[in-house]
Amino acid sequence: MLDLFSIFSKGGIVLWCFQSTSEIFSPSVNALIRSVILQERSGNNSFNHNSLTLQYKLDNEFELVFVVAYQRILQLSYVDKFLNDVHLEFRDKYKNELQSGRHIMDFDFKTSYDNILRLCEQWAKSQAKIPKQMRTFEDSLKSKKTVASMIERKGEEKSKKSVKIVETKNVPNGVEEYPEPEDDMYAANRAKLAQKIASKGKKEPKKSPKSPKVVDRTKKPRVWELGGGTRDLPSLDFGTDKEGDVEVAPDTQLIGQMTGAIRDLEVESEESSSEEETDHSAAPSPKKTGGMFSIFKGLVGSKALSEESMRPVLDQLRDHLIAKNVAADIANKLCESVATKLDGKVLGTFDSVAKTVRATLTESLVQILSPRRRVDILRDCLHAKQQGRPYVMTFCGVNGVGKSTNLAKICFWLIENDLSVLVAACDTFRAGAVEQLRTHARRLDAMHPPSAHGGRKMVHLYEKGYGKDAAGIAMEAIRYAAEAKLDVVLVDTAGRMQDNEPLMRALAKLIKVNEPDLVLFVGEALVGNEAVDQLVKFNQALADHSSSTNPHMIDGIVLTKFDTIDDKVGAAISMTYITGQPIVFVGTGQTYTDLKALNANAVVHALMK
Ligand code: GDP
Repeated sequence: MLDLFSIFSKGGIVLWCFQSTSEIFSPSVNALIRSVILQERSGNNSFNHNSLTLQYKLDNEFELVFVVAYQRILQLSYVDKFLNDVHLEFRDKYKNELQSGRHIMDFDFKTSYDNILRLCEQWAKSQAKIPKQMRTFEDSLKSKKTVASMIERKGEEKSKKSVKIVETKNVPNGVEEYPEPEDDMYAANRAKLAQKIASKGKKEPKKSPKSPKVVDRTKKPRVWELGGGTRDLPSLDFGTDKEGDVEVAPDTQLIGQMTGAIRDLEVESEESSSEEETDHSAAPSPKKTGGMFSIFKGLVGSKALSEESMRPVLDQLRDHLIAKNVAADIANKLCESVATKLDGKVLGTFDSVAKTVRATLTESLVQILSPRRRVDILRDCLHAKQQGRPYVMTFCGVNGVGKSTNLAKICFWLIENDLSVLVAACDTFRAGAVEQLRTHARRLDAMHPPSAHGGRKMVHLYEKGYGKDAAGIAMEAIRYAAEAKLDVVLVDTAGRMQDNEPLMRALAKLIKVNEPDLVLFVGEALVGNEAVDQLVKFNQALADHSSSTNPHMIDGIVLTKFDTIDDKVGAAISMTYITGQPIVFVGTGQTYTDLKALNANAVVHALMK
């Protein structure tokens, strides 16, 4: 029983609609358009909103969307078939009108709609009567494997296993499993890897070849090259309060560098990206020859794109994204979304499949990274100030990702913009956490003493030692800031693993009782699949433990250690894709000025090169 069926153009014009009840479905259809179709999540053709399931089909040639909505508790096996049939019928019937672009007309489709629906319902009933049969060998995935891919080679087992761990470990709740692709190229790559491992083994004979290389997945404290190595500026690693209570010399060279909005991140020089975009010359640059797309250059098409024709390019692109640290499941979904978006689209004579798929993926990636809403913290702080209250930001994340360090950088930026800050030390768990913030506060105070701000002390620390209730301390700190007329409160929270239920409950409580203006999730750019797991579980825990109908979830992301990942920038995509929230800050090093705003084009350029 369908509640709604609608055909509308991607431009928003409804061509035909059937509605079984007087209920209003527009919020659900709008949510589908906003969260799926415009946000490049159209790989999977179904979407749940409130009590409804919406399933849709895109017609990329005529830029149409076919949507059905039905109650989520129903299991309707015929909807895919119905969408296909109704799509074909509508196209056949109104081909001329659609080709002429005459969208505003009376489409008389009711009889066809009723017929197709009746036939599909009959079909579903007849299908239900057929006993389930075993798949034949030809239907199975195994039959599609090549002989080469089935030959076992020494050392291969290990590499295959490790890939599997990456692909399955952190798949977020309720998402599909994707079969592992197997083809000659993979087999060749594996053989290469096996050779590499074997040759390594020869060079280092002392290492026992028998002992299996077990990947230790427990989190270990990372040892960073500290500031002194490559640069003269002091590092911000004050994890063990190295300075004690000694007087600190202000880092005068940093003062004044962070006034105004945060500067954009630069991943690649502008020249090289514009060079790529306008590169129509016959002589290819040496960097680009033999790249991953060169083998597809010959696939020039002048007809409609099909799933089959795009598959090799999509597989390559997916592997490329995974190699750049995009979570495997998200890389899959992105490619599926591109396939859905392009299926049936007619290529221009000079457009190749690879070029079109690549351009569409690039466009989708930029879209994902471009914030849906603008987070203007300086403006919001001033707005809160006008209301006579401090602006409150809470930082959460797992241990060691850089919460305190980046909180201190953000504090520096706020002070540089003449906003006074109270840092609330609510990590009452980790030894040294309070001292670390005390050191930052002292350093920041030395750089921006009251004398430079008309007698105003710009940075304060609110601390109550260890073992106390973090939510209570945050509440007292906010009250203190309001009374002292301070502009911003930055709440540092204890690092916690996403699976630690009591700690996640405590975080949800802290957020619920204090209602911060902004909840920032701090995550490392180094992680791939793990980033998705952390974010999904943090968000889930905030929803589950908040006991509110409208829980405050993660509002934005601080992506740290961006300076350590070279061009493996995929975590930025995974994190924004999974939350739909913007990356508000990017940590790019260990000094107070190493804080940037995300530049979607620069990141996508690094991702696609
Ligand atoms: P917390 O446990 O989440 O509060 O993490 P910390 O703030 O103590 O940071 C852990 C380590 O990461 C410290 O050594 C920091 O100096 C380092 N760190 C933080 N942010 C960055 C960054 O953007 N780049 C680099 N290279 N290191 C960072």
